[in-house]
Amino acid sequence: MIEASERPGPYDVDVDVVVAGSGAAGMSTAVIAASLGRKVLVLERASRFGGTTRKSAAGVWIPNNRFLQEKGIEDNKLDVLKYLARIGRPAMYDPDSPTLGLDQWEYDGLEAFYDHGARAHAALEELDALHLAQATNGLIDYLAHLPENKMPEGRGMYQAASMGGADGGQLLIDDFVNAARNLQVDLRTEHRVVDTIIDRGRVVGVVVETAAGERLEIHARVGVVLATGGFTHNAEMRLNFLDGPYIGGCAVPTNTGDSVAIASELGAQLSNMNQGWAGPIVVERLLKEPTEVFCSFYTLGDGLVSVNCGGKRVANEKAPYNELARVMAAYDPRTLRYENFPLITIWDQQVADRWAIDRLGNPVPVDPDNAYWVISGDTLEELVHAIDERLAELGSHVGHRRLEPDFAAQLKETLNRFAGFAADGVDADFHRGETRFERYVSSRFGDGDGKNPLLRALDTDGRLHATILAPGLLDTKGGPRTDLQGRVLNTRGERIEGLYAIGNAAASPSGQGYAGAGGTLGPIVTYGYLAGRYLGSDQVSVHP
Ligand SMILES: Cc1cc2nc3c(=O)[nH]c(=O)nc-3n(C[C@H](O)[C@H](O)[C@H](O)COP(=O)(O)OP(=O)(O)OC[C@H]3O[C@@H](n4cnc5c(N)ncnc54)[C@H](O)[C@@H]3O)c2cc1C
Repeated sequence: MIEASERPGPYDVDVDVVVAGSGAAGMSTAVIAASLGRKVLVLERASRFGGTTRKSAAGVWIPNNRFLQEKGIEDNKLDVLKYLARIGRPAMYDPDSPTLGLDQWEYDGLEAFYDHGARAHAALEELDALHLAQATNGLIDYLAHLPENKMPEGRGMYQAASMGGADGGQLLIDDFVNAARNLQVDLRTEHRVVDTIIDRGRVVGVVVETAAGERLEIHARVGVVLATGGFTHNAEMRLNFLDGPYIGGCAVPTNTGDSVAIASELGAQLSNMNQGWAGPIVVERLLKEPTEVFCSFYTLGDGLVSVNCGGKRVANEKAPYNELARVMAAYDPRTLRYENFPLITIWDQQVADRWAIDRLGNPVPVDPDNAYWVISGDTLEELVHAIDERLAELGSHVGHRRLEPDFAAQLKETLNRFAGFAADGVDADFHRGETRFERYVSSRFGDGDGKNPLLRALDTDGRLHATILAPGLLDTKGGPRTDLQGRVLNTRGERIEGLYAIGNAAASPSGQGYAGAGGTLGPIVTYGYLAGRYLGSDQVSVHP
């Protein structure tokens, strides 16, 4: 940080509000503040707008949303909070406690999401910044099977023109950018906020570095908003803050934890730092295509299993991605290893032929000739040998793991057992195919033909294929803790005047939970709206 009194001359730019980052968090804050008359400048570090939001499927999960209200369907507040508390803090959840067992700030944050989500949606829609429609394809919450989820359908919405299509995130960002331009928001790419300017303890501006090598000092009379995403692409922060062997993720590469670095210097209180929006990720795709890669939200197909380096299945392969990735952090006190990192997903030729679908990180390739992440073999022995060679090549990226000497024998046993489950239609070990969410994904991308459409014995007489998965992140969800207006708090719980944080740049009150498709963007636009409204209000003090 630099002291305002020690810097010479006038500022390069003078505005009311500086927003760092142009994803949903930054843009929702910016348009609301601008609509209330503030002069807003959005600074984006990358060469294009939108951040990870642009890569997203643009699902937006808001309880008690407009569509439910219009249909006269009551989405009870306590029910919603119970569901969010249950999935966010499974070990703390207590339905009889006034905060449901959560820390007060988390409870307050979730409550604000419920209370203001529909209003945020309405306000952004009014400004032409957000166009949502209720999901019509049977979309169901990831944890629809929990008794605390009283309304598993209806809270999920999509960007209206794409309805969950691959272009959803781009359309969502286009809408935000157009709305911002209509409100005279100044939008600049290749401008990275690197420091803050302070006047008597209050943040009054930022220092910016441009891609062209310029250095700018910008005055923000009302506030500076950190909406810079998480720290997925900062290896040191991942190591120091996350509690699993996460190797990286599919957030945009410019999300390197700048909000944590900038706010820490000002004494910010950091919270939820050990959590991410998690998902399994194909190791080789992450290494080769760090910008384009997606987490494997789905691994499609019935004749498919995931095993660890000991050849054993360790979880339901079709579990929701945020929950599945956590299984890979399991630690063995005897071997002192993360035994489920990496996981090896194996499928047969029937899956290769039928579920070659290039959506949401499905590893079964559409173009097998160029699928460098797929390992194939004509026999099981050939496949096993090839997997082990690939692990050796990947070295540190897979924790220096190799297959156990009895891997082939264990795998055969695993596949035999799995074949028995498929014949019965019941996965007695991990209950694959039993939840409504799994059935929804399966029916969306094509059911198998067996008793249980998600189970089939792998055909080991034909060609077999595999890929190597590690725990990855859509992005992290820890950062500076804020109040409900997005104002950053210090380690004493007091406000750091002039400093705000929103989205994955801030501490999420959601703990480890991921409620459903849109479970990150719903809260993000709600908190952006609340911060924008406060920044535009006359309660806020203005620096001369
Ligand atoms: C493939 C994929 C699909 C997803 N689908 C969904 C979905 O359908 N629904 C859902 O709810 N969530 C989804 N997510 C997650 C969701 O995209 C993110 O949680 C959300 O977009 C985060 O928004 P944000 O504004 O906080 O961060 P981002 O959108 O990542 O924006 C942060 C921006 O800050 C910029 N930045 C970083 N540092 C600086 C700096 N110092 N100065 C200036 N700018 C800086 C970055 O370049 C970036 O553009 C998906 C994620 C992925 C990867």
